[in-house]
Amino acid sequence: MYLLPLFHNLNGRRCVMVGGGSVALRKIRPLIEVGAKVEIIAPEINTAIIDLAEKHSLCLYQRKFNNDDLEGAALVIAATDDKQLNKQVSEQAQKLNIPVNVVDQPELCSVVFPSIVDRSPVQIAISSGGTAPVLARMLRTRLESLIPSGYGFLAQLAGKFRQQVKEKITDANSRKAFWEDVFSGDISELVFSNKHNVAENKLQEKLDKQLSSSTNSLGEVYLVGGGPGDPDLLTFRALRLMQKADIVLYDRLVSKEVLSLVRRDAELVYVGKTAGDHPVTQDNINEKLVEFAKEGNRVLRLKGGDPFIFGRGGEEIAHLADNGIPFQVVPGITAASGCASYAGIPLTHRDHAQSVRFITGHQKEHKYDLNWSELVAPNQTLVFYMGLNGLETICQQLMSYGMASTTPAALIEKGTTARQRVFIGDIDTLPQKVRDGGAKAPTLIIVGSVVSLHDQLSWFNN
Ligand code: SAH
Repeated sequence: MYLLPLFHNLNGRRCVMVGGGSVALRKIRPLIEVGAKVEIIAPEINTAIIDLAEKHSLCLYQRKFNNDDLEGAALVIAATDDKQLNKQVSEQAQKLNIPVNVVDQPELCSVVFPSIVDRSPVQIAISSGGTAPVLARMLRTRLESLIPSGYGFLAQLAGKFRQQVKEKITDANSRKAFWEDVFSGDISELVFSNKHNVAENKLQEKLDKQLSSSTNSLGEVYLVGGGPGDPDLLTFRALRLMQKADIVLYDRLVSKEVLSLVRRDAELVYVGKTAGDHPVTQDNINEKLVEFAKEGNRVLRLKGGDPFIFGRGGEEIAHLADNGIPFQVVPGITAASGCASYAGIPLTHRDHAQSVRFITGHQKEHKYDLNWSELVAPNQTLVFYMGLNGLETICQQLMSYGMASTTPAALIEKGTTARQRVFIGDIDTLPQKVRDGGAKAPTLIIVGSVVSLHDQLSWFNN
């Protein structure tokens, strides 16, 4: 992050505007709206500003700026076309530690104006850190159409009931659940359709019906597939539950980009296994899930890919079921699907493969317990998960059970992410290519004649 977003309370505080043209006017308006005491300093001040000043009793100083003008100001804005003057204002403000904004000269700013979606008291501020204002504005347009105008009233309504709700529902988790219900259920719909009074009555009714609770209610666990890496591949439900969870248990395969989409104030617990070192055992994870849920939390168990494919998701929810903890499972795009798509390798194809197998390439005590003669049968695609260390052995075993050494094979490293690399060869040459390229986990191996389609179908260039 380049800039720290903060919301500035300027009510009744002195804000100095250096400049009296149309650009200044644009910046003065939002200052008036938030109740700032605006002072405008410029040798020439346009009539629109003069009108505004009369209406809102702003101070106008029709003269040149001098450094003393900034003393005691809460915010300074320079909006002149004199670069030298803008620089002087910026330097003086920064010397006095006063936040300063110079219009269109980001290098002179200590604070910038964001694009704003205003549903007061709810406000969304968007900034591109000065890199792409047009992008920020486009985002704003998108959000404008996405967020019903009733959000402002909804927030006001909540503000009105906040204290009452706090007194009646003393348990923090139950209170959170209460508000979430209000904001996503029929009360919010009533607000959005302008039935404000009905909404307010309903909210009061809902609160009256609420049992005063100091005991924890039982939480819930969401076992969610986070997909192979690209956050765009999350499902809507995954995203929704990610935004709802109080605690998130995640492991190594969950990409940083995906993780950044969980609720900001959720507690993050890393339970990944690093190679050769198992800081958190599976039993431990199972126990933690139960424990957190019993405390009344909404617990997100976030896994790479799909939780039911080499994810031990089954074991985790079996333990929850044994302990009577409610849960739901959200499928994710498994590495085989993600990597195959992003490498341009269809897993099945009428001319190449009528079936596909997902195989674990993980060795138990340096040995494979796989039925190799089945794996070398024709017209199928083999997908090995967790096979990087065993790649050489896998290829040798396939050859020794009769698979042609020229059978195409691919290894996809960090599939679907900006760091994706695809190694293409055959089962004879691939191990060497992968060694030469220094591939690192996670990687996925695809074996079969479908791999030959990569040349023609590859599309994802990072
Ligand atoms: N549940 C996961 C798989 C867990 S096993 C899923 O459905 O995808 C872990 C293995 O998944 C890794 O060793 C690797 O083989 C594969 N994998 C996961 N993400 C990957 C990615 N982005 N690129 C390549 N392989 C990946």
